[in-house]
Amino acid sequence: MTDGPTPAMRQYYSAKARYPDAVLFFRMGDFYETFGEDAGVVARELDITLTARGRDKNGDRMPLAGVPHHAADGYIARLVNKGYKVVICDQVEDPKTAKGVVKRDVTRVITPGTLIDSSMLVSAGAHYLMAVAPDRKETFGLAFLDVSTGEFFVSSGSTGRDYAEIVSEVVRYRPTEAIVPESLADGLPARLEALGVPVSRYRDDAFDPDTACERLCEAFGTATLDGYGCAEMPGAVAAAGAALRYAQDTQQSPLSHISGLSTRVPSGNMALDAITLRNLEITAGIRGEGDANTLLAALDATETSMGSRTMRSFLIAPLLGKTAIEERLDAVEWFFDHALERQALRATLGDFADIERIGGRIAYGNAGPRDLATLRDSLCTIPDVKALFSADAPALVREALAAMSDHAHVVDLVGRAIVDEPPARAVAGGMIREGFNEKLDELRHLATTGKDWIAEFQQQERERTGIKSLKVGYNRVFGYYIEVTKPNLHLVPPEYERRQTTANGERYTIPDLREKEAMIATAEERLGALEAEIYAELVRTLAAEVAGLQATARAVGLLDVYAALAEVAARYGYTRPAIEESGRVVVRDGRHPVVERHLPVPFVPNDTELDSAGDQIMIITGANMAGKSTYMRAVALCCIMAQMGSFVPARHATVGIVDRVFTRVGAFDDLASGQSTFMVEMLELANILNNATPQSLVILDEIGRGTSTLDGCSIARAVVEFLHGKAVAGPRTLFATHFHDLIDLEGTLKRVKNFHFAVKDTGTDVVFLRKIIPGATDRSYGVHVAHLAGIPKKVTERAMEILKETSAREFSGGPRAPRYTQMLLVDPGEGAVQENPAVRELKDLNPNEMTPIEALTTLCRLQRIA
Ligand code: ADP
Repeated sequence: MTDGPTPAMRQYYSAKARYPDAVLFFRMGDFYETFGEDAGVVARELDITLTARGRDKNGDRMPLAGVPHHAADGYIARLVNKGYKVVICDQVEDPKTAKGVVKRDVTRVITPGTLIDSSMLVSAGAHYLMAVAPDRKETFGLAFLDVSTGEFFVSSGSTGRDYAEIVSEVVRYRPTEAIVPESLADGLPARLEALGVPVSRYRDDAFDPDTACERLCEAFGTATLDGYGCAEMPGAVAAAGAALRYAQDTQQSPLSHISGLSTRVPSGNMALDAITLRNLEITAGIRGEGDANTLLAALDATETSMGSRTMRSFLIAPLLGKTAIEERLDAVEWFFDHALERQALRATLGDFADIERIGGRIAYGNAGPRDLATLRDSLCTIPDVKALFSADAPALVREALAAMSDHAHVVDLVGRAIVDEPPARAVAGGMIREGFNEKLDELRHLATTGKDWIAEFQQQERERTGIKSLKVGYNRVFGYYIEVTKPNLHLVPPEYERRQTTANGERYTIPDLREKEAMIATAEERLGALEAEIYAELVRTLAAEVAGLQATARAVGLLDVYAALAEVAARYGYTRPAIEESGRVVVRDGRHPVVERHLPVPFVPNDTELDSAGDQIMIITGANMAGKSTYMRAVALCCIMAQMGSFVPARHATVGIVDRVFTRVGAFDDLASGQSTFMVEMLELANILNNATPQSLVILDEIGRGTSTLDGCSIARAVVEFLHGKAVAGPRTLFATHFHDLIDLEGTLKRVKNFHFAVKDTGTDVVFLRKIIPGATDRSYGVHVAHLAGIPKKVTERAMEILKETSAREFSGGPRAPRYTQMLLVDPGEGAVQENPAVRELKDLNPNEMTPIEALTTLCRLQRIA
């Protein structure tokens, strides 16, 4: 039996019906309560006790979990950071004055991609909401919006190769939430969720390109979107419109700081796919996010959050245009040469607040008084920053300075309005400076003089009645009262009116006190209301300045990055690379920027000379641990750093612009997707072979290890032949391998050259010299490495014997070691008709089920066993 829901629960059900996919926090007294399934989520994710109260619509006990309202932000942040969407349903009228049930309504919707509250943002990094909209057949428009800073851009990607292009963008920008049209098929959303991005389905009409275009134009105050470079990208426009609408919906604000967008054509930048970003440990280490061993960590000497975000965006999207790269290098070089200016700028920026995010909060209307004070203090330093530069500063520095305004109006207004050290939140009061508003000063005066009056009154009454312990006190029920303790009751004058009896005495009042009390109480109440009103008005006024503040913030970010790159270059001995439009990469005494920082011994520098017309492919052999991977990665990082505009760790470097860097490094099992190591390796390899251009740089580390030696070696050989190209050279390639058979390619393919890592063999021990030299090695020293690793001597000695026996047999022209053949040659058995095994296998093949690379490798294999 149920009596039907209570009125409060009726409010709950109506709010929940509007946000079925969110966890609803429902304000009841001092708690936010969650019910039903939501309570289950809260209990599980936040470790909160699950209780039950009342009955739900079906008469079942209703699970319930609540958190105290004053601590709610922390709990909400934890839920949202785990990918949940949270809706706050608050009391929207004062319970003291409400008649009947207090009105409640949804006041906030908080989703992972639209968090803006500084207390909830986990990091200073960018925080993107991503929107995805189908474009033409097989392409998607993508939009990325950082609600906290107003940064907004679009790009696109095709569905091909299991959405590889879109996945690259996701890995690059790490959105915290993605929205897709309600009616979109599951393929892409499932792929995004597999990458750890929570996906929300959002109304289809928001993704309509025409309405999206109108919404964007209205927000940006423009007639068309032509100026943003996305006119020909209906999918991108649709995604951008949907992202903006979703953000506006959740924030319940027009978000005036989002004042434009940019178009990032993937071809405008060096392409670094997800695999390469990971393999080269550009922004995240092999061991995941937060790893200190990344290129980003090695270069990010920025002083501000804006700078840090800019650094990351430079790094994940290096440039392709020679002029653009050189302009950045000019800016960095200027700071490199002007150490005094560099130090002065860095010192000034040291205290510079994240004004980009503060701007976002101003636009949203939730900037706190302390935000405004830090904004004012930061803006005050801008004239000092500008004064550091003379007219000889390079173009990009001057451009940044020109985009930077003093915001004298903001400094003046906030300076007059806000006290020096205001509280963090406006509700606390006490943030408006004396002299800013006459009415406020008057009320403050009244409230303080009221309090003085009370103190005086107490003194006066003590003297008049002779009761030394007489006290004037205050409580919410009775207001101000005069308290007299029991032993003094006989001294109470007749005009005292009794109000309350307590354990220790009596409380009284008199008309004079009552009158003053009314005045003081209303003054305080009005004071609070007026101060809040003045503050809100101030924030509204500042909202008009937000677009300018964002421009200044971005310019500060740029200057910070140029100076930081120069600082790192000076500290670690980097040089300015020469940039050319050629097929060369020439490095003298190059080092690995990350490895060299963590070595207990000096890093051994090495040279590189790649040239599409000469040594296009380097085949690198050498023992395990000799330094092959480190060397190859250092070359790739050198190109990436040069093209982002950074100096490089080398004595000299010439970089012929690289359009894409491809890597196939090591054997990471893609356990999550359940694919075998070999399959993953082949997929990555197929991607390289299909997409590398003659301008690309390819790093291959030990491909073909996941299968039998002969299989692997054939694949490796076919790959080198393919990359080498025929008349026209293919991509510049560094290829580390254990397959010593490959070294004879140097003779047959004209642009292949062998290298190896030098080793000093003392007879009993092996010393790695870490020096790359021309020519191939003859031994792999694997057994020595086994010894170094602490494998028992008995085992390594026996291994040495076996090695000697095998080499002797191979040398004497005896049968090939069985490991090469056992997997392929079929024992025909007694009396069987001997059919050629290649023919037999050929008959069993189903070409329709094979990928081109499988067909190619099978063909190579069959040729060898035929
Ligand atoms: P390989 O790929 O040949 O197995 P790595 O490149 O992984 O070898 O290098 C093995 C270790 O040797 C690295 O972890 C690093 O500590 C050290 N190392 C590599 N290159 C150098 C170098 N040029 N100078 C000093 N130490 C190096």
